[in-house]
Amino acid sequence: MKDRAKYGIGVKGQLDDWFSINWKIVKKRVRNLRQRIYRATQNRQHNKVRSFMKLMLRSFSNTARKIEDIDFIKPYIEGWLSNRGLELNQDKTRIVNVETGFNFLGFNIRQHNGKCLTKPQKEKVLVKLKEIREWLKHHPDVSPEVLINKLNPIIRGWDNYYRFGVSKQVFSFFDDQIWRMLYKWVLRRHGKRRKKWVLRKYFRRLSGGWKFFALTQDRRSKPKSIYITELSKIPIQRHVKVKGFASPDDPTLHKYWHSRSTRYGKTRWIKGSKLYLIAEQQNWLCPICSEHLFNGEEIDTHHIQSVKDGGTDNINNLVHLHKVCHQATHYCRRSGKPRLEPDDW
Ligand SMILES: [Zn+2]
Ligand SMILES: [Zn+2]
Repeated sequence: MKDRAKYGIGVKGQLDDWFSINWKIVKKRVRNLRQRIYRATQNRQHNKVRSFMKLMLRSFSNTARKIEDIDFIKPYIEGWLSNRGLELNQDKTRIVNVETGFNFLGFNIRQHNGKCLTKPQKEKVLVKLKEIREWLKHHPDVSPEVLINKLNPIIRGWDNYYRFGVSKQVFSFFDDQIWRMLYKWVLRRHGKRRKKWVLRKYFRRLSGGWKFFALTQDRRSKPKSIYITELSKIPIQRHVKVKGFASPDDPTLHKYWHSRSTRYGKTRWIKGSKLYLIAEQQNWLCPICSEHLFNGEEIDTHHIQSVKDGGTDNINNLVHLHKVCHQATHYCRRSGKPRLEPDDW
């Protein structure tokens, strides 16, 4: 690599000492390299072109030039923000290479093989796992049911936050770690038993793997099994973006917002799950007020025939309502006012 030694380009250095850069030389190096690429292209020396381009991509001078461009843009960003009464927090503002990336709100945003990806931040994942490990350590005697009811909401909450990122690998890692923790937890409980016996007692073989489970009862005292939620089994969803300048108050865009709400709603529940099927069955509308289920209000799931009257948890007996609509429904039922429910319930 004669070029690197001779021109001092292609050095992958840190841009720590911003002010000591000799800009004259940096610009000259970049210009020089560009000219060489041009000449090689003219002479159809494709191999040379490729290696010069590689050199350009890795070159310290070129990176420095690009950062200079960003620095040049900064005042414009500041102007744009100040028009809106905002300003950049100088302590938190950093310029980083896309391949180095940065952390933001628990996500790591970085370029991988030319693609910008948003992944869960490693430290946050480890902290969460540590939290769970500590909990297990301090609760060696709780029943598997209590354990699942404690961990599942945590796992689902996590999923809701990270499902819009590129989290598949991290989710698998997370599941794997939880599995190991649970296995250790059960082994500690039965130090004298054989491993196989312990495994069979607490884990059940399901779709190719051993799943931690607990036996419990449903509302009608029928036995049922619950399982630990696995993040990697939940499909990753992409965020549904708002188109251009679309405003929810524009009446001509009613159709657009409706279909966006449905698309958004479809990411709320796992496709094919019970809650998803219920929503699909009611066409993503609230039967009480006829508005879209996902108009921003909270949602409750309601029993059409109440449990105390023998109503079941079957899909046909369940319906999603806005929280307010739900409360109104029960209020009318209780107080003997005219029923709000549709006639075909
Ligand atoms: Zn409603
Ligand atoms: Zn209800």
